[in-house]
Amino acid sequence: MGASEAKTLLQMKRHLQAAAQDGKKAQALDLLEQLDAFDMNAALLKETKIGITVNDLRKQNALGDRVTTLAKKLLLRWKTSYRQDAAGKTASAPSGGSTSSQPRPAGRVELRERSMKLDGVNPPPLNSQLRERCLEMLYNAICMDSDVDAAKLLDMSATLERLIHEEFLDAQGGEAKYKAKIRSLYSNLKDKENPELRYRISQGYLSVTALAKMSALDMASRERRRDMEKAKSEAMKDAQTAQSSQSETDMFKCGKCKQRKTKYYQMQTRSADEPMTTFVTCVNCGNRWKFC
Ligand SMILES: [Zn+2]
Repeated sequence: MGASEAKTLLQMKRHLQAAAQDGKKAQALDLLEQLDAFDMNAALLKETKIGITVNDLRKQNALGDRVTTLAKKLLLRWKTSYRQDAAGKTASAPSGGSTSSQPRPAGRVELRERSMKLDGVNPPPLNSQLRERCLEMLYNAICMDSDVDAAKLLDMSATLERLIHEEFLDAQGGEAKYKAKIRSLYSNLKDKENPELRYRISQGYLSVTALAKMSALDMASRERRRDMEKAKSEAMKDAQTAQSSQSETDMFKCGKCKQRKTKYYQMQTRSADEPMTTFVTCVNCGNRWKFC
């Protein structure tokens, strides 16, 4: 896809680098404005690495405020569309197929503030104030930074609300469970740290039926993964500090000097459920080895 687009971008990138080097403000600004009008996507950003050049430009105060401001604006927009493209891809093309048939966010989408009221949406009557309020909550969460039209978003939120309602209709303590589920959906969908979930559902990459069945953990998977990473790196840190207090033992025999005076420590080097790696140092000759 877009070989000629990449070519154009690479050319612009070279001109930008030259303009920056020679301190040509007007030329840099002109190029940034051309880039501003360019229909950028994740694949092009990745291929051309033009973001790096624009970021370098942003840092060059000598080129003036207008260059800095425009560069910042571009980078912010590219970052957002890059993330959205990436999220869309993982949702619907797991086998690395072409993404060109998917609706791609246009290069320049001005995001306005939205809500059921601001969109002027008339929700269908549900004969229950609670359900109507919950429908509005879901709509208000899904519509955040979306450019999808109101009728589609209403259809999604109404289906979602109906599915949750039906799920707990005959359950014991059904109303409390219904409310808890809606609250969980609402907080995950409107989570500023989790734009992928919102984007995937509003663009149709994730079906409403699938969303209704997701657990809170599934919805917040990115968050959860980050927490797990954090826990893991803390365990590594603990293991590394343990190095300073290595234990001495005669359990191991040095392959070099054949002595049994060694120090060792253990560390979780891979995933948490695999055995620890043991690092051994020979006290006599300094030979080091490890084993799992
Ligand atoms: Zn040795």
